[in-house]
Amino acid sequence: MSSYAFEPGPRPSLSIAGTDARFPVHRIYCVGRNYAEHAREMGSDPTREPPFFFQKPADALIESGAVVPYPSRTADFHHEVELVIALSSGGKDLLTSNALDCVFGYAVGNDFTRRDLQKAAKNAGQPWDTSKGFDNAAGIAPIHRAVADQLPAGRIWLSVNGALRQQGQLHELIWSVPEIIAELSGYFTLRAGDLIYTGTPAGVGPLQRGDHIECGIDGLGTLQQRVGSGAL
Ligand code: MN
Repeated sequence: MSSYAFEPGPRPSLSIAGTDARFPVHRIYCVGRNYAEHAREMGSDPTREPPFFFQKPADALIESGAVVPYPSRTADFHHEVELVIALSSGGKDLLTSNALDCVFGYAVGNDFTRRDLQKAAKNAGQPWDTSKGFDNAAGIAPIHRAVADQLPAGRIWLSVNGALRQQGQLHELIWSVPEIIAELSGYFTLRAGDLIYTGTPAGVGPLQRGDHIECGIDGLGTLQQRVGSGAL
């Protein structure tokens, strides 16, 4: 029987509201430009360009209450509050009609972004890994178990030092939760433990060292984090 050459690191996992059990994370998928107003603030036309997918590494997660280090090699570190879907099963080529069978629960997340590097990557036709997939780039609050096929509804918002920056309604999602799962499963075999960040509403903006970030979604609680000093 073979063994590892060295001890493997811990598997990324997340808090679940109301239990000590943790959610074991497999992959993190993200949806880009899934709210029309945010697509427009990023300079694109939501009627012509559909949403799309990218990924973050599973060990980029940083939970509520943690200090988020200000990342290196950026002068434009941005917040993006998002609804996150957590899966307890998966498959490929799923249909929207049964996509919700895969859902374990939902959480409030923050898709942290090096916006200056993202703009440079877009202009050069280069990938987004350094702008989206860096260490500690996936803020996340405890997961709330889904109640049957009930979808999260209501307000999604984010404030910095008490001042409201982002606000939207979940019904404004261009691709709904079942549509995202079905579409994503056409590209990837979805698995238990996958997380899907579903896109951010308008109002994204820069964070400074020492900022207090608070964001929330109706029924899913809040995510609170402080920006640390990080690289200078
Ligand atoms: Mn995003």
